[in-house]
Amino acid sequence: MSTRPPITLRHLAGIDVGQLKGVGEKRRAGLAAFDIDTVLDLVTTYPRRWVDRTNEARISDLVPGQEALVLVTVRSVTKRATRNRRTMVNVNVGDGSGRMEVVFFNQPWRERQLKEGLQISLYGKADTYRGGLQMTNPIVDLIGDRTGRIVPIYPQSEKAQISTWEIAGLVEEALRRCHDRGIADPVPIEIRRRLALVDRGMAFTLIHLPETMRDKEHARRRLAFDELLRVQLVLVMRKRELERTSRGLSHEIGGELVRRFHAALPYPLTGAQLRAIAEIDGDLASANPMHRLLQGDVGAGKTVVAVSTLLAAVQGGHQGALMAPTEVLAEQHATGVRALLGDLRVPDPDNLFGERPLRVELLTNRITGTERKEVLAGLADGSVDIAIGTHALIQEGVAFHSLGAVVVDEQHRFGVEQRAALRDKSSGHVPDLLVMTATPIPRTAAMTVYGDLDVSVLDELPPGRTPITTRWANGPLLEAEVWGDVRTEVAAGRQAYVVCPLIDESEKLEVASAEETYQRLAADELRGLRLGLLHGRLSSGEKEATMGLFRAGQLDVLVATTVIEVGVDVPNATIMVILDADRFGIAQLHQLRGRVGRGQHASRCWLVTQPGDDPLDQSNPRVEALVKSTDGFELAEIDLDLRGEGTLMSTAQKGRSDLKLASLRRDRELVQLARDAAFEIVDADPHLAGHEVLRDELDLLFTEEDEGFLAKS
Ligand code: ADP
Ligand code: MG
Repeated sequence: MSTRPPITLRHLAGIDVGQLKGVGEKRRAGLAAFDIDTVLDLVTTYPRRWVDRTNEARISDLVPGQEALVLVTVRSVTKRATRNRRTMVNVNVGDGSGRMEVVFFNQPWRERQLKEGLQISLYGKADTYRGGLQMTNPIVDLIGDRTGRIVPIYPQSEKAQISTWEIAGLVEEALRRCHDRGIADPVPIEIRRRLALVDRGMAFTLIHLPETMRDKEHARRRLAFDELLRVQLVLVMRKRELERTSRGLSHEIGGELVRRFHAALPYPLTGAQLRAIAEIDGDLASANPMHRLLQGDVGAGKTVVAVSTLLAAVQGGHQGALMAPTEVLAEQHATGVRALLGDLRVPDPDNLFGERPLRVELLTNRITGTERKEVLAGLADGSVDIAIGTHALIQEGVAFHSLGAVVVDEQHRFGVEQRAALRDKSSGHVPDLLVMTATPIPRTAAMTVYGDLDVSVLDELPPGRTPITTRWANGPLLEAEVWGDVRTEVAAGRQAYVVCPLIDESEKLEVASAEETYQRLAADELRGLRLGLLHGRLSSGEKEATMGLFRAGQLDVLVATTVIEVGVDVPNATIMVILDADRFGIAQLHQLRGRVGRGQHASRCWLVTQPGDDPLDQSNPRVEALVKSTDGFELAEIDLDLRGEGTLMSTAQKGRSDLKLASLRRDRELVQLARDAAFEIVDADPHLAGHEVLRDELDLLFTEEDEGFLAKS
């Protein structure tokens, strides 16, 4: 054994693959095409599949018509031209269990590639042909003369110069060279023991050269844990850093004002609302600034929770602000919150009457002149208790007397810059921040995407809701029924939304299509009804005028683009028709659907699609999910299953996509374990001073932006 310290990922990243035996110019280039430049890249290029040759992948197990993988030896190869002058390469292959014909059309190079005696894996659909089995144009992997029971198959492309067995050989050599010094394991031994994680060096060996499938699983679990732990360490360190470096207010909890507010509500709070309020209270009472995400499906009752939060600040003599993404929504919030507060009075010992009215003001860019001056003055001298508005609230020229709590509705439009502006708004202390979103994402995904926030969840709808019935109209026959249904609802005094097809490429096209839909419906299917049109190219005045008419019941049907996605609240609207529903994502459909079902009447949502090309397969998993469930969290899980986490990660996680093995979808338990471990490590050692190797890995694997805070600490 050598006495030199074990090899770290940093060491491996410093060794060029060109230094490995047998890697010359040409192979070096072939590897570079796979983004493999260093030995670290090489050993973290994991097999994409493992085949157990003793009990799977045999010819005798193939079922005609089903896709499968077989490991076989090439027996003979012939090439000829077909009548229409294409080439056809016939390969006869076999294993201990049987033989099979493989046919390649238009791949003349297969003749050179597939030599007699070569071991290959084939992935494709077997069919019966002239009494025997045959595969046509399967995916081929050259696995070389590997003898192990488990055969790793690496990602490769047919064109690239490197085959899976060459990668396997190089990985094997690299690992052999590490053997003497061993590979450093930066995860504390107690954590490894407790979570039954295999040693990292062992994990690298077992993932590439497993003896059994169980070995491979142990190795995968360990290496996936490491990936997740690194992400969580960055997030948890950032969270703790924020808490350390900013001073918040320690609000008084359980005051008279909030008590009065709750007592005056016409309904009891749901269990979920009480729980969220308690979690928020904990943050408010603490001197650390709150930084919390409130997730709750549309209609879950987030507003009451938001107002409770703002009132806690008001109670202590501070101010609260509620920010919405658009002016229309800010105005709706102002109306809604005022109604909710009624004539609530603030206990005030300085006042002759021992209390004073609560002052709520709206501030958007549409509030101008004297009115604006008065609101601004009230914010500055503290006489405005609650301000509701758009981002205009945190613009320059708006000063608060003492901003104590901020609630932001719809987090996806509230970026990092706004958050920074918020900090600048408040001299001395940082206001407590609650971010609300109606787009639920699964818990473990939230831990990663919003890992520097705490999360509260409203997972319970207030009682007495009439559930929305969702139906799918696939094709013109059913579509006729849809319009009949709309007429019936309108005849009963209700109102309808028609959502126009989403056109991603261009707003202009989308508007054109909305106008066309509007014309068509007005002239034909919905002739005689009062229709309005709403889209993104209208001025805000025009939009508000149309919304006003719809709200007042002077329009029967609102034809709109997705501008109605968030916040629009008209309880009398009981039916929604979404055209070309298959163009929308699950989350968006769910958001849209949430515009109905807001009153006491039963509501319906129609998802209209055009029939697909394949008459035998008209399945549409997203639309079917919506028909089956109205639970936003369940839908979020399905969405994650259908799409994978790619989309989630690439936007919110830019630069942090260090996840090669771990999956937020499949490794939910591991995400939680990694997060707990990250807290354990960081809380004992905030700057990872005693975890040099771990810290060095973060430096190595994360961009500066990702862990910019590390430099500061
Ligand atoms: P969200 O913002 O989460 O979509 P809202 O706060 O707008 O939901 O609430 C939706 C509706 O539910 C409102 O009409 C509100 O008055 C009502 N509501 C909220 N909480 C309760 C409750 N605990 N019991 C009954 N109704 C409630
Ligand atoms: Mg809301």
